[in-house]
Amino acid sequence: MKFYYANEDEIKQGKTTDIYFLRTEEILRKNHVKKHVLAEFTVQTLPDKYDFAVFSGLYEVLNLLEGLPVNVYAMKEGTIFKSADINGIPVPVMYIEGDYKEFAKYETPALGLICQASGIATKSARIKRAAGDLIVLSFGIRRMHPVLAPFIDRNAYIGGCDGVSSIKGAEVIKQNPRGTMPHALMLTMGEKEAWMSYDEILDDSLPRIALIDTFCDEKTSAIKAAEVFKKLDAVRLDTPGTRRGNFAKIVRETRWELDVRGFKDVGIIVSGGLDEESVKELKEAGATGFGVGTSISNAKTIDFAMDIVEIEHRPIAKRGKFSKRKEVYRCTDCGEYIVLPYGEHIKECPVCGGKVEKVLHKVMEGGKKLSYFEDNPEEIRNYVLEQLKVYKNTEH
Ligand SMILES: [Zn+2]
Repeated sequence: MKFYYANEDEIKQGKTTDIYFLRTEEILRKNHVKKHVLAEFTVQTLPDKYDFAVFSGLYEVLNLLEGLPVNVYAMKEGTIFKSADINGIPVPVMYIEGDYKEFAKYETPALGLICQASGIATKSARIKRAAGDLIVLSFGIRRMHPVLAPFIDRNAYIGGCDGVSSIKGAEVIKQNPRGTMPHALMLTMGEKEAWMSYDEILDDSLPRIALIDTFCDEKTSAIKAAEVFKKLDAVRLDTPGTRRGNFAKIVRETRWELDVRGFKDVGIIVSGGLDEESVKELKEAGATGFGVGTSISNAKTIDFAMDIVEIEHRPIAKRGKFSKRKEVYRCTDCGEYIVLPYGEHIKECPVCGGKVEKVLHKVMEGGKKLSYFEDNPEEIRNYVLEQLKVYKNTEH
């Protein structure tokens, strides 16, 4: 192999599963065990006490299960959920039902698809929430295996990032790739020459963003760049950790120095080691955009587990898990979840009296995709941003 990854056929064949599932499948087949099973996907706790997570990866899971004799129920991709409802009951995000041996081996790849996708989308949403209306770009593919570039950038985008840097990622989300200039350009040409040439050669439609901290102090270079470009849109500060001291103060000072020279329209994009905390701080200091890398691409996964909760339509579950199919309601006003045994219903939110909606939908029947017809990252992203309005102030 030139690159170590499993291709689509190998994943569909179950080659990326854990061996114990194949052994289980063989034993069940030899014993002619045919049990109708309902398997539930929940998460015990969210990473770092997150107040919510974004459910993502469903599109790929349905492609994984397509053609199998199973039904699938799930939240819409991009649904913001909590690990537990108002009573502490884990919130199911998805169900697979069918003869267990027919889908046992897909537990591993199905989990992998939603755990990592949801982890990236969630981190992206948290950072976008901190940035508000300011631009957040996904710059983190360089820290991950290249085969994952479209996966990472798609999930970063649907979580709320405004754009992505990779060509393949941008193709998947049907947007233009976004970026500025690397330090290498200034090193190979000299700073002023690099800026002038960039301004001259780059298509007029593209924003002029000058990387300014290759050799000199941020404020000196910011002013220089603003003078060199015909009309500079923004400077980018990628100040190395060893020179940072107080990055927010550097941003504040650069903002001031640009303003007093009449460059109020020149934005300040920051990048390098950012997360939701630093984005919030730098926004207050005057940054107007953020290039976020590793904290998104290497986001902690949302650790979903798959558990059997019914066999032959009877409740059963291992220790530590809640048996039986559930009704999952969400309040559209306060965003709280209410999980009930299947067949029980509520009309309004017990917390705020708001309107409640059911969030689980049948998305696959007998291996055929139902309501989920195509991949539309822009629509999913809009759905996430809409929900973020409800979840904006719940973290302390
Ligand atoms: Zn409510």
